[in-house]
Amino acid sequence: MLRTLLITVGLCCCMATSAQFHTVMPRTTRYRIERTAQGKAGEITEMTEKAAPAELSADTALMRKQWIDSYLSVSYPLKEIYVTSPFGVRTDPFTKKRKRHNGLDLRADRCETYAMMHGIVAKTGHDRLSGKYVIVRHGDFSVSYCHLSECLVKKGDCVRPGDVVGISGNTGRSTGPHLHLTVRMGRKHINPGILLRFIDETRRQALEKLSK
Ligand SMILES: [Zn+2]
Repeated sequence: MLRTLLITVGLCCCMATSAQFHTVMPRTTRYRIERTAQGKAGEITEMTEKAAPAELSADTALMRKQWIDSYLSVSYPLKEIYVTSPFGVRTDPFTKKRKRHNGLDLRADRCETYAMMHGIVAKTGHDRLSGKYVIVRHGDFSVSYCHLSECLVKKGDCVRPGDVVGISGNTGRSTGPHLHLTVRMGRKHINPGILLRFIDETRRQALEKLSK
């Protein structure tokens, strides 16, 4: 519960600052307009333009670019992250028996679903359990997005973080609209929460450095 809250709060902070973030460009010179009153009191007779000492060194500009790239290297899978069912053993909603949940359920109802990192679409398909799904491979691990209403990529596509891979839905073995997210390393399922925390941390660090 606390984890859910932390992820949600972290995301809100990022969303709030992301709009201004995308417009941040390294500026090398800044000017300040200075009004100087001369002669009679209150009468403005001169306007000077002075170059303010606000130049960014090449090193600083490069560092800013690196932090911007770092920020853009990851993306949350949805605009809003709210975990409705965590990874691990839980009561199966269909059989009511204790069973391992191999992924994470996120609240989503026909929402754009984004690639979380740069990767290649390994598979798209439709089956009885996962419904419509997209699997994206990122090096050693792969992420699947399940119960989609639409797949918007095809096998072999190269995706960048934030690219829309599909629209969430309620297909397959699902009790209601949501996004079921799984992360696999080889044959082993790992907790997608780890990846969400990594995204959170990467963005938080980048924003912190950029705001300095
Ligand atoms: Zn699930």
